[in-house]
Amino acid sequence: MDHARGEPARAAGPTCNRAAFRVVVDVGHTADVAGAKSARAVSEYYFNLRLAKEVEQELIRAGFGRTVLLITAAPPRGGLFERAERANSLAADLFLSVHHDSVPNAFLEKWEYEGEEYSFSDRFKGHSLFISFDNPDRKGSLLFARLLGRRLKDRGLQYAPHYVEPIMGHRQRELVDSATGVYRFDELVVLKYTRMPAVLLEAGSIINRDEELLLRSPERRALITASVAEAVERFCAARLPLRRPAPASQANAGKDAPKTASPDSLSAVPASSH
Ligand SMILES: [Zn+2]
Repeated sequence: MDHARGEPARAAGPTCNRAAFRVVVDVGHTADVAGAKSARAVSEYYFNLRLAKEVEQELIRAGFGRTVLLITAAPPRGGLFERAERANSLAADLFLSVHHDSVPNAFLEKWEYEGEEYSFSDRFKGHSLFISFDNPDRKGSLLFARLLGRRLKDRGLQYAPHYVEPIMGHRQRELVDSATGVYRFDELVVLKYTRMPAVLLEAGSIINRDEELLLRSPERRALITASVAEAVERFCAARLPLRRPAPASQANAGKDAPKTASPDSLSAVPASSH
C-alpha cells in the first residue's frame, strides 16, 4: 500500500541506525521577534517552542539520541542563515522547522475574549508542509514531507488547502503533493541553505479560534509528535541504504542533488565504507 504511494516499502528497523541519525528540530522565530499572534494574542514562538521540545523528546525516546533542538536568538534575516549554518555544521541528516500558521492581515476580524479585543480568522485551518526545490536534496526533502504528511493524515488531521488559491497573493504556493499537503516554497532560507533534506511544518492555524485551542491541547500535540517520530523512522530506514556504494537501481537516486551536496548526507556512514 505504501509502495503505491511512492513511499519506501522497507519498514523501519535494523536498517535504521537511530543512534547515528541526527535530526535538527528548529524552533521557528525568536523570543523577541515571535512570529504570528494567535486568536488570543499568544505568540507563535511560544507554540513553536513547546511543540518542538515535545518533538525532540519523542525522537529521543524513539532512540534518536543525536536530535538537536535549535533555538536562535538572532533576529531575521541573519538569524535564518544562522539556523542553516548551524544545521550544516552539525552535519544533520534531516532538518525540521516547526511553525504555526496565521493569515494575511486582510483576512483578520475582531472579537472579544475575556473583556479584551483580539484579531482572529476562522477562514482557514489545518497544517501544511513546505519544501524548497533549491535545497540540494530536493528528493529527500519531498520524501520526508510526504512521509510526515501521510502520518498526520492517518491520524485524522487534514492539511490546509488554501495556499493554492489566488486570494493568497504573494503567499500563493504550488501544491507538490495533493495527497499529503506538501507545498513548494523555494525561497525559504532555512530550507534553501541547509545541505540536508529540510522541511518546514506549519502545525496548524493559531489565528483560528478553535484550532488554537486544539493546538494548545496535549492530545493534538501528541498526534503531531508521534507522526514526526514515525516519519523520521521511515525516512531513516529509507535513506541509509543510499549511503552505501549504490547498486545500479539506486545510482540515480540523488540525481537532483549537486555533487557537492553529499558530504553531510554521508555523515552517518561508518568510516570503513568511505
Ligand atoms: Zn512562523
